[in-house]
Amino acid sequence: RSAAMNDVKLALLGSEGAGKSAVLVRFLTKRFIGEYASNANSLYQKRLSIDGRQLNLEVFDPCSQNVESRCILEEPVDWADGFVVVYTISDRMSFLNAKNILQQIRESRRETCKGDMDVPVCLVGNKQDLCHSRQVSEEEGRSLALEHRCIFQEVSAAENYLDIANLFTRLIRHVMEHMKHR
Ligand code: GDP
Ligand code: MG
Repeated sequence: RSAAMNDVKLALLGSEGAGKSAVLVRFLTKRFIGEYASNANSLYQKRLSIDGRQLNLEVFDPCSQNVESRCILEEPVDWADGFVVVYTISDRMSFLNAKNILQQIRESRRETCKGDMDVPVCLVGNKQDLCHSRQVSEEEGRSLALEHRCIFQEVSAAENYLDIANLFTRLIRHVMEHMKHR
């Protein structure tokens, strides 16, 4: 069953406009593409090799998410092995939404999983290049991540590829580690 072992499914979550698609496309193509005419949910696939292991990465990129729409979480939560929760450092609302989402992931996984296994999650503070209009300090992001025991990184999909690549690599490693213990 090694083929199934190497399937890694991630879901992106976060406010509309936080930069979910930009971060993902940057990771998949190394390029920043400004605008996406995406009014549909998208599923991306990519073959990757991490630590010498071949894997088939699938990423779910939902078209929109609002603070109130609790139900948007339900499908990806059941489907995904790990989550990328994105907010914008220049938009406090998006940070509060991310906080909410982290809580929801925790709660819904508590219902479906035995024990207290942490779901692999990374919290991403995007648009670091907009630090002149920053509304969320790096410290706040870090401490929220600590509280939920998840990976944290500020990135700029617009200006930097390496941080995003590192982030996804760390998350995927975490997911593969997690699968071994299941
Ligand atoms: P989504 O709704 O979360 O998928 O957000 P998008 O990826 O569509 O991005 C929303 C807007 O933010 C677009 O206009 C992007 O060009 C812009 N954007 C995304 N990432 C960055 C970033 O790192 N820096 C800046 N300045 N703009 C960004
Ligand atoms: Mg999008």
